[in-house]
Amino acid sequence: MITIKSDHEIELMRKAGEIVGNTHKYLKQYIRPGITTKELNDLAEEFILKSGATPSFKNLYGFPGAICISINEEVVHGIPSSRKLKNGDIVKLDIGACYQGYHGDSAWSYPVGKVSSEVSRLLEQTEEALYHGLNAVHAGAHLGDIGYAIEEYANKHHLGVVKELVGHGIGTQVHEEPDVPNYGEAGTGIVLKEGMTIAIEPMLNLGTATVYMLDDDWTIVTGDDKASAHFEHTILVTKDGYEILTKR
Ligand code: MG
Ligand code: MG
Repeated sequence: MITIKSDHEIELMRKAGEIVGNTHKYLKQYIRPGITTKELNDLAEEFILKSGATPSFKNLYGFPGAICISINEEVVHGIPSSRKLKNGDIVKLDIGACYQGYHGDSAWSYPVGKVSSEVSRLLEQTEEALYHGLNAVHAGAHLGDIGYAIEEYANKHHLGVVKELVGHGIGTQVHEEPDVPNYGEAGTGIVLKEGMTIAIEPMLNLGTATVYMLDDDWTIVTGDDKASAHFEHTILVTKDGYEILTKR
């Protein structure tokens, strides 16, 4: 079922989203060569708890971390560990927070030290792909318009669109209906309505779009070990467009 949020629910989702945005801002200052992904995870958890929320992904489907941290060819669902960030890496922080029963969800990709021009382009263009998806949103638009906008932009820039993982509705559950794919046909799918809240999250690869899961049963990596980037916002569908709930 696709839920339409009441004004009160939207207020709670704004607060949850604000905590997610603030957690990104807070963690960004710690991203540097030498820090471990577990240290980043623990800083995030402490910050979210201090903000009066709980980390949405902790124990979600059994996930062992408070946030997902994925490096380079890891697309999503990386488990925080003793692995240290290195100069030239890209690190993807996927952060969820639950405030009074409502979730916010936002992933962002960050360069560590100095990255190659190829990787830097991947980061810029994946962020841009997110904005292309967002700009397709307004009450009366079709769900397929979002995926079409993202895929068209990615194709133009010869980036691989991950199809196995998709955006989603969000509210009292992190993952609600509908699925929000990063590909599709304009004018198809459900009609977006005012008060829907969804997470839009392009995952784009420098090389092949193919991905597979590592033996840890969590981490998704690219088929050719080339880098992947991920940018995500939770948004509210409005009459004329959208409101970003996870802005920083
Ligand atoms: Mg996320
Ligand atoms: Mg998400």
